Amino acid sequence: SENQIHARIEAQETPSNHSRMAKTNIVIVGAGVSGLTTGLLLAKNPKYSITVIAKHMPGDYDIEYCSPWAGANYTPFSTAGTREARWEKETWTPLADLAEKVPEAGIHFLKSREYVRDKDHNNTRTTNPWFKSFIPDFRVLDTSELPKGIDGGIEYTSICINPALYLPYLLGRCRASRIIVKRSIITHISQAYTLHHTTKPADIVINCTGLSSLTLGGVLDTTMAPIRGQTILVRNEDPMMIGTTGTDIPDELTYVMMRASGGGTILGGCAQKGNWEAEPDLEMAERIMGRVKELDPGFVGEGLDVVRHAVGLRPWREGGVRLEKERVGEGWCVHNYGHAGYGYQTSFACAGDVVKLVKEIVGERSMA
Ligand code: FAD
Repeated sequence: SENQIHARIEAQETPSNHSRMAKTNIVIVGAGVSGLTTGLLLAKNPKYSITVIAKHMPGDYDIEYCSPWAGANYTPFSTAGTREARWEKETWTPLADLAEKVPEAGIHFLKSREYVRDKDHNNTRTTNPWFKSFIPDFRVLDTSELPKGIDGGIEYTSICINPALYLPYLLGRCRASRIIVKRSIITHISQAYTLHHTTKPADIVINCTGLSSLTLGGVLDTTMAPIRGQTILVRNEDPMMIGTTGTDIPDELTYVMMRASGGGTILGGCAQKGNWEAEPDLEMAERIMGRVKELDPGFVGEGLDVVRHAVGLRPWREGGVRLEKERVGEGWCVHNYGHAGYGYQTSFACAGDVVKLVKEIVGERSMA
């Protein structure tokens, strides 16, 4: 039971068992891909005693919980030389390692094609992207390989994550790494300091609440907004991931990603900033399926076998992810939220940056 786990952890933490180390008590708020990956990397340091608390857990499907709704694949879309490009580069190897060596993580390799339409104004895609140096099997598509209406494209080997398997996998690894996971709702970030499983006050709180950082007391980050994404999960299987730079309808996209291990294929999509609508728009769903059929008629075949229509809200933040430390009363808070549409493909690097900030805080505390 959870109580037995608590007891075992407490026993591990008694001085006789653990070389009288002073522990740093950490509470992570959020059990999406950001919170769980951060937990996993922090737990490598045995001096940290970690609790994850969250309103939503892997297994839940809720409009306030973005991670289960993601495709999710690895398609770098940052600009060379930015911190986002570093995060994407640093996250490739851990995700590729999981795809290669850890079948239970629910990640597989797939060929991925990005199709470019010259008429998409905001299109920053190029046939010479910065990430081609480390992504396997990169090549520029020949015009003879392009579907109708597409002006150019690239192909490479990428990965696709099945969140229905990956999020429980991350949670399981957290539990195996001595992290205690509890369901809890806070209305102010300062409440998190009282929720460490030892009942002692937390020294550090990590804020991984995604879009809720807009309304969470003590954070109230008004630069946050949703970017609504709508998808269709179908049983049809397509061994090729596809994405386009745009469609003829503003804010609508076309992409196809087959999830690992019978997870079905996600058809997308849209990117509607400021739209909070949780219900799927079935007319848009028809348009998405029509576009996929045009682009990839072989995949659609006799028809699409729909499992469900879905909507997720990407946690967008003006200026990008907030990854910094902040003094909150007697304690410290490290923020790691605002990952918009790239939370999986930057997850390990952002979590790694949190580990560095926690180290800085612990260093400063021990000198004080
Ligand atoms: P969330 O998953 O939203 O988790 C927030 C956590 O905080 C939850 O556990 C919640 O319960 C908890 N919480 C919030 N407020 C409170 C509170 N007050 N008290 C207690 N707990 C609280 N990314 C990619 O990298 N690749 C993709 O291909 C991709 N495709 C996407 C497709 C769609 C349709 C969508 C919607 C998103 C996609 N994304 C993709 C983006 C990715 O899903 C997000 O960036 C990521 O899931 C954000 O994770 P998070 O952990 O920061 O937030």
